[in-house]
Amino acid sequence: MGVTTLTVALISLVVVNRLDDYFLNQAQADLRVRTETVKEVLGITIDVGSRTQPPVSAQNVVDPGVVTTLDRSGFMDELIADRVAEADVTVVLGLAVDDPAAGPKVVPATNGRFEGDLTGPPQPGQAREAISYTASYALKDSQGYPYGMQLTLAAPYSYRASTVANVTGLLLVIGTVGIALSLVVAALLALRFASPLRRLTAASRQLAEGDLSGRVPAVEPSEGSAEIADLTRQFNRMADRLEELVEITRRDRDRSRDFLADVSHELRTPIAAMRTFNELLQDRAGEDPAPRAEFLEASSEQLSRLDWLAQNLLELSKLDSGLVLLELRSADLRDCVESAVAGSRLTADRRGVDVSLELPAGPVVIIHDPLRIGQVIGNLVSNAVKFTPRGGSVRVRLRPMADGASIEVADTGIGIDATELPHIFERFYRGSRGETRSSGSGLGLSIVKSIVDLHHGRIAVESRLGQGSRFEVRLPRDPELHALATEAASGRAGGGDDRPARPTGRDERTTDRPRA
Ligand code: ADP
Repeated sequence: MGVTTLTVALISLVVVNRLDDYFLNQAQADLRVRTETVKEVLGITIDVGSRTQPPVSAQNVVDPGVVTTLDRSGFMDELIADRVAEADVTVVLGLAVDDPAAGPKVVPATNGRFEGDLTGPPQPGQAREAISYTASYALKDSQGYPYGMQLTLAAPYSYRASTVANVTGLLLVIGTVGIALSLVVAALLALRFASPLRRLTAASRQLAEGDLSGRVPAVEPSEGSAEIADLTRQFNRMADRLEELVEITRRDRDRSRDFLADVSHELRTPIAAMRTFNELLQDRAGEDPAPRAEFLEASSEQLSRLDWLAQNLLELSKLDSGLVLLELRSADLRDCVESAVAGSRLTADRRGVDVSLELPAGPVVIIHDPLRIGQVIGNLVSNAVKFTPRGGSVRVRLRPMADGASIEVADTGIGIDATELPHIFERFYRGSRGETRSSGSGLGLSIVKSIVDLHHGRIAVESRLGQGSRFEVRLPRDPELHALATEAASGRAGGGDDRPARPTGRDERTTDRPRA
């Protein structure tokens, strides 16, 4: 509005000023032309009035005939001033002195002054102009007698004042309309841009106050600009990410709290048992060799359980914190599957469970950490042996796949209840039934899953209660390449979604593992 007002004011000022000058010049030029006309008319009149005498005698007296003609009633006022000059006219007759430098000069005759006043009414829009024009002429009448004439035309009628007033009025109207229009447009624009920005501010405030559900409604096509719409979209995306991250952090915190509670619970049980044995040994039982040996044996069992628990916990926390760096190398998977199965055979034989191994004829070469994958298979096979009653069987099968390999561990054991199936990979989760509760710590499958995740593989389980379970581990041919490909695919699927790259070696285990 300021710019519009200033522009209109400047234009008005310049236009009015220039117009005023222009009309003044025009009036001056008009006056000059009319002076010439008046001179011509008066020349003829003087010629007629003086007849054969000179119009101005050598004594500088105007001929009486000329005086009479010019003084004739109505001649100077109505004819010359009103009709021809349209201005006040002063005529001075006398002898002419020709000055070559300054032009002709008139020495006024004593009876040589004639005046005619403009008395006629002005045309509509005309007004008297405060200008005048004087010209001196050295003339000769038709007989050749010389004389001088000085003419002054003053205060003519002109349209200057009314035209300038008209234009000023017009500019004032245009200016007012322009300013009013700019006011309306400015208000509309302000409204258009201010509303989405106000909503954006409200949503940011909501976010800053801790309410992460704050989002900005989509910008209507009639509001704001493409940039504001883009800003809104980006803001909402940022808010989504923030909410997601806070949720992940919250879940991680809860999980850590649960984990700590589980750990202390697990540690308390063997410690309490050992304290009891200790107290009993300090009492009378300590002197009796048979119970003493029994208590010491039980204590040693609890100690090895504690040691085993500590080892598993350390392992899991290392895997979790990403401290474990896989020693990846390209090797035949058959070797590590074979040795893992061989490690469980003794226990299986003791428990009367048959373990069979099915390996392909050719090598299955993939990039993996043989020690860790051996640990995975060892854990799965020892679980299968543990949860399979005497006479049952465990079948381990390795198959090459198009993009890696599949290792299957199937047993004919007790199976897992469908309700428990989603929880078996959680830390400290142990089945609800007697035989599963009493054995193990519930950490084995957590470790298995962590190692498989580090390899960017997948683990799946199928189980029927009373019929057995089947665990399948799928490993990619090259974990790093697979991670890159998955990331690129998820980036494409997300339409350029700018998720941060997942750190290699650690998967979204924290997010996709169901909570107990
Ligand atoms: P644990 O060290 O107690 O065996 P895991 O994490 O290895 O802990 O297993 C968790 C639970 O999953 C077990 O307590 C058991 O209930 C169930 N489970 C795992 N493997 C099998 C299987 N082969 N057959 C039946 N149940 C199984």
